Amino acid sequence: MKTEQKQQVLCAIQQAIIDTRQDIASLQEKTVPIAPDESLGRLTRMEAIGEKSILEENLRQAQYKLQGLERALARIDQPDFGCCRECGEAIPLGRILLLPQTQLCVNCAE
Ligand SMILES: [Zn+2]
Repeated sequence: MKTEQKQQVLCAIQQAIIDTRQDIASLQEKTVPIAPDESLGRLTRMEAIGEKSILEENLRQAQYKLQGLERALARIDQPDFGCCRECGEAIPLGRILLLPQTQLCVNCAE
């Protein structure tokens, strides 16, 4: 990978980490335990629980993504950075910029 490409990828990773951390922070605020508050009706409470489980799933995915991004950041200077973990082919730059946490090319990801 060329130095200027690596620079581009580095920016993309850093930006994605900032965005993902913000997502995680706002999801964590929304997933505080639901108090057994009698001001909520029964149905509203059920809805709140349903919505909470969706948010918790989103939070898990965001945390997983953040781990992947941090791993990518740590690996960016490795000679095999940007190569597919499965087939060893170079992952197109556009895909890395879009999904910096990916370690697979499009074919292997499918
Ligand atoms: Zn591959």
